[in-house]
Amino acid sequence: MATYTFRCPTCQCFDVVQPMSDVRPQHPCPECGQEARRVYQAPHLSTTPTSLRRAADTAAASAETPTVVRSIPGGAGAPRRPRWSPVTGGSAVNASRRARGPHQQLPRL
Ligand SMILES: [Zn+2]
Repeated sequence: MATYTFRCPTCQCFDVVQPMSDVRPQHPCPECGQEARRVYQAPHLSTTPTSLRRAADTAAASAETPTVVRSIPGGAGAPRRPRWSPVTGGSAVNASRRARGPHQQLPRL
């Protein structure tokens, strides 16, 4: 859906929201019923999602005056916990101390 602007010869401009496939160069005026001509301009497509717009604004602002981060920003969440491994269990895997083999058998479920 897009918003198109039409200009009535006697009334004011008005907007019509309709699919791009249905748009015509003329549309009846909602007030007087005369055929109003379309005002050609960039269609007002749906707006950018809020999160995407904020990210773009932040990136644009940071490009001009980069902010120095001295601590983890709020809302970043806790650091990720190490994944469970059948070899090391819940402890972190250190590649230098990893067993070269033969490896333990995986537990039967
Ligand atoms: Zn009119």
